[in-house]
Amino acid sequence: MLRDIEYLMQLQEIDIRIYEQELAKKQLPATVAELQKLMDMARKTMETAQERSKTAEQELLTLEDQMIKAEENLAKSQERLNSIKTNREYDAVHAEIETHKGIIHSSEARKKKVAEEIDRQKEAAKSAIEVFEQVRTENEPKIAELSAAIASIDSVIAEIEKERVAITPLIAKPILRTYDLIRNRRNHGRVLSEVSSARTCTVCYKVLEPHLVSDIKRAAKLILCQNCGSIFVWTDKE
Ligand SMILES: [Zn+2]
Repeated sequence: MLRDIEYLMQLQEIDIRIYEQELAKKQLPATVAELQKLMDMARKTMETAQERSKTAEQELLTLEDQMIKAEENLAKSQERLNSIKTNREYDAVHAEIETHKGIIHSSEARKKKVAEEIDRQKEAAKSAIEVFEQVRTENEPKIAELSAAIASIDSVIAEIEKERVAITPLIAKPILRTYDLIRNRRNHGRVLSEVSSARTCTVCYKVLEPHLVSDIKRAAKLILCQNCGSIFVWTDKE
């Protein structure tokens, strides 16, 4: 019986490692997705600022074209003033001149605003690039490491399963059956409750009677916790 309990404790240690790997298999992809999302958000912020800066630069070019054209038209209209014959013509040319001047004036004002916008967006893009680089430097190695871990989990579990297969034939069948039954009912890898002189169940923390503790210590038979159903094993660990 004592030998069986020793093996059970080894089996428990193996099963906890399997449980940890299975837990990681469930949890790690979400962690990777979160880190990836942080990077995507930083990239998006950077790209948006770059895009806005580009759009503003494009508008500035359009405005400059527009002004050149308006200035050419203004020069032409002013030239026509010299060859005017009627009052009506005079009024019409003056109206044209006012229109061209209006375009030049409003383009000038808009240009100033757009130039400010370009400065602002360039500044925003610059700091967004810095933030993105920082987020990337921080997270890319983590993502690579976690992805490698995820990719190897199945083979790690298979390796641990081999240890399990090696140890289970050494345990008396009814004891192993009880252990496996409890293990299958639980969503954590722990089946054994390691009782020490602290006299509590280490799974559910129930305080144990002294005579029960002596029975556990003697280990003449398998004793289960009446509260949580774990298998008691004696340990000298405090
Ligand atoms: Zn218990």
